[in-house]
Amino acid sequence: MLFDTHVHMNARQFIEDRDEVIKRAFDTGVHYMVVVGFDRETIPLAIEIAEQYETIYAAVGWHPVDAIDMTDDDLAWIEELSSHPKVVAIGEMGLDYHWDKSPKDVQKEVFRKQIQLAKKVNMPIIIHNREATEDIIQILEEEDAKEVGGIMHCYNDSVQYVQQCLDMNFYISLGGPVTFKNAPLPKEVAAEVPMDRLLVETDAPFLAPHPNRGKRNEPAYVKLVAEKIAEIRGISFEEISENTTKNAFTLFGLDVK
Ligand SMILES: [Zn+2]
Repeated sequence: MLFDTHVHMNARQFIEDRDEVIKRAFDTGVHYMVVVGFDRETIPLAIEIAEQYETIYAAVGWHPVDAIDMTDDDLAWIEELSSHPKVVAIGEMGLDYHWDKSPKDVQKEVFRKQIQLAKKVNMPIIIHNREATEDIIQILEEEDAKEVGGIMHCYNDSVQYVQQCLDMNFYISLGGPVTFKNAPLPKEVAAEVPMDRLLVETDAPFLAPHPNRGKRNEPAYVKLVAEKIAEIRGISFEEISENTTKNAFTLFGLDVK
């Protein structure tokens, strides 16, 4: 049983065949997933998909690339949706310094507001981080995000920051890049993260793992991620599978179905 902790089944890439893709995941042993909404279009769809499937959950938040578009009404809307029975986390949120659509100060402000909201509704946070690890850690510390904890989604920085994340009650989630031949960092992280803080994800439709790199990603491929981590740690696939699923249940506060 695997739990894909970060998937965008609400993306336009799945409009044609969403139900088939989800069925393929279930058939591969990926029984659980969190569909992550990140703007006005993808948030309602994440909830709609979660309502359709008993073992699919939703997260609601605002993406840092589009931080400049978020209004106070959007924030109030996210707060309202957080009480939906299938919503298990606030996010994705964070900082993305790769794209410059939203200025850094706007991204930081929107990030802080969402952390405060997550603390208010007492839900874990899902962090999107691109080229911004140090600023993210600083803001999480300043806003005392430790109170709710959460996920460093698709963690892609060096091992040196992992302990600070763990100290703030964050889990480290690894995705497709751990399988990439030219990506040493996530492999080092895969070897180092304590077993009780490790999660797996796809971030589908993005970041498909080897040997599907460059193609559309889908939740069934989280198996390839888990297999690679098992190989790196020298343990069985079952052990990775069981533990990462148990960790996801603990973090999201779910009961096993
Ligand atoms: Zn995402």
